[in-house]
Amino acid sequence: MSERHDDLFWRDRHEPITESDAFLREIVEQAELPPLLVALAAATGETAGLTPELRPPLTPVNTVGHPHGGMTAEQQASARELAYEGLRRLRDQQITTVDTLPDDTVTELLDYLTDGRRAWADSLKHELDLAADKGGAPDWHFAELAGGRPFDVLIVGSGVAGIAAGHRFSQAGVPFTMIDAADGLAGTWRKNRYPGVRLDTPTFGYSYSFAQRTDWPHQFAQGGEIEDYLLTVAERAGLSDRIEFGTRLVSATWQEDADAWEVVTRTADGDRTRLFHAVISAVGQLDLPNIPDFEGLEHFRGVTMHSQEWDPSVDWRGKRVAVIGTGASAYQIVPAIYADVASLTVFQRSAPWMLPAPTYHAPMSETFDWLARKVPHFGQWFRLWVTVQGIPGRFHTVRAEEGWSGAPLSVSPINQAVRDELIGRLAEQFEGRPDLLEIAIPSYPPGAKRMLRDNGVWAQALRAPHTTVVTSGIEAFTEHGIRTADGVEHELDVVILATGFKPSDYLDAIDVVGRDGVELHEFWKGDARAYNGITVPGFPNFFMQYGPNVGGVVAGSLHFMLERAAEYALEAVRELLTRGVASLDVTPEALDRFVEWVDRENQQMAWGQPYVSSWYQNGAGRVSQVWPYTNAEYWEITERIDPQDYTFR
Ligand code: NAP
Repeated sequence: MSERHDDLFWRDRHEPITESDAFLREIVEQAELPPLLVALAAATGETAGLTPELRPPLTPVNTVGHPHGGMTAEQQASARELAYEGLRRLRDQQITTVDTLPDDTVTELLDYLTDGRRAWADSLKHELDLAADKGGAPDWHFAELAGGRPFDVLIVGSGVAGIAAGHRFSQAGVPFTMIDAADGLAGTWRKNRYPGVRLDTPTFGYSYSFAQRTDWPHQFAQGGEIEDYLLTVAERAGLSDRIEFGTRLVSATWQEDADAWEVVTRTADGDRTRLFHAVISAVGQLDLPNIPDFEGLEHFRGVTMHSQEWDPSVDWRGKRVAVIGTGASAYQIVPAIYADVASLTVFQRSAPWMLPAPTYHAPMSETFDWLARKVPHFGQWFRLWVTVQGIPGRFHTVRAEEGWSGAPLSVSPINQAVRDELIGRLAEQFEGRPDLLEIAIPSYPPGAKRMLRDNGVWAQALRAPHTTVVTSGIEAFTEHGIRTADGVEHELDVVILATGFKPSDYLDAIDVVGRDGVELHEFWKGDARAYNGITVPGFPNFFMQYGPNVGGVVAGSLHFMLERAAEYALEAVRELLTRGVASLDVTPEALDRFVEWVDRENQQMAWGQPYVSSWYQNGAGRVSQVWPYTNAEYWEITERIDPQDYTFR
């Protein structure tokens, strides 16, 4: 990595372009134009062509994304000419590098990509290696600020969130210990190994700002590819050897006298107690399997396994297999196994909405690969372009309109239009199977639950002659299978519980005792709340990553949210060191204000309507999982530790 660039995948040089004009003409025909134009402008220093007339309009995306951000045919034609000339120039002048850009150029290029939305600029610069003021990495070092003061941090978890925290804390030189209950890193991507596991959001929207891999094989990365990426990131960040695996956090108790958390961790060898001045919880949100309390489960003589606890030794091929659930995990398992089983029974409680994703199983295109190899920083600009489009995301399709008559099936005219379009697709996919079509149409508005990505494989699996979709409720397990409410007994050998997780049970099974002996779960009373999704009053120096209310569902980047939480926690440590105080504790007023702010917006969304229910809500009925704003707002609220929101001791 170049010292100057906050990117573990930084490359100084790209391959020189040697191809003919005709080849370059082909490339510009196939390329996504906005990121190519900015990449060429950055590399050649020639920005004059990026006129306001040529800006992509960022046409709102209802279902399928618009190529080139919705540029008109005329814009595309002009953009292709400009890109062609730019590629020729790279070739003729043998330009293979690009470096940090002048601030004016960064502004110009971001103005181009965002059609002038300056409010997004700072959050986007967090992602842009070429910006001199790229946000994220600490610009201070522990040794300079601590003055010999001991300060030890515990990071719990080495999944996507923990790696982000580990990297940022390590950059700042803050001493930390990292533990993980599992025997290796990568969190959810280590655990979820079921057939078909892959990303169901675009790969280029799913990586760290400080580790911008560009040679991804697939448009929607396979599970193993993401696990490999995380292993590589941890290796390059120097984290791999410093994680205590097989070590579970049992409890953390704030010791007022010591201004530290007394932490009990458990390994196969027993318990260990130690003190830490701050704790970062990076334990993940979708980690605790939801195993419904099915009657008679213990009597079933076949095999049951939860999607996350897939047992590779189970021989399911040629067997009578059932999948319970039709969420994101089931959606990947069913198409991956159906061809190899004797019979497949899918138990559906409610049907999923599926957004069209024709390239769901596709590799990155050859044009993309060529551009990423030959045009300096193209892959990173493409990643930024995905991020830009993800800021507004699909919010406009899920915002409820007051007095809308289509409830409870839709929440607004656009939401109804999306519903109609998706039903039209289902009608095509289930043509000739009215029985399946009838049960495939969800009875709730699009967006009320997480939408899946579809390229037709789900319908194909359900249409197979040996597949049965059962909508009658599960009454009980029997020795030989499952009996449903209609009295039918379905004989089965293997039952896969794709029944999801318990996302609202934050830090379940961990005792976190804060000031005055208050336990975190008692404080929450089933309704987990945290200021900015990170801090909780009465729990000083305790920071959550992917805590309550920071999960994006129709917009934004998960990595952005996790990185910002890590950076915010690190900023809090800096604040403690510079102020020379031992602890900081968020005020109850700040938390109430935050919760009121997110609740108000969530109530405007499809998932916040009183007639819908999903894992976005907790037992108290509040939407406690979802972040209802954009990345740009999260950037703003995590930019600094506001002293008015904290008490320092
Ligand atoms: P999920 O979305 O919560 O789906 C669970 C399914 O099980 C639902 O269809 C649910 O029905 C059903 N179910 C639960 N309890 C049941 C019961 N007692 N009887 C019958 N059916 C029952 O869980 P998931 O599919 O594991 O996905 C969870 C989240 O993980 C996703 O939303 C996503 O955020 C993440 N994920 C991501 C990926 C990816 O990126 N590739 C893949 C998998 C998962 P109802 O809908 O009626 O509640």
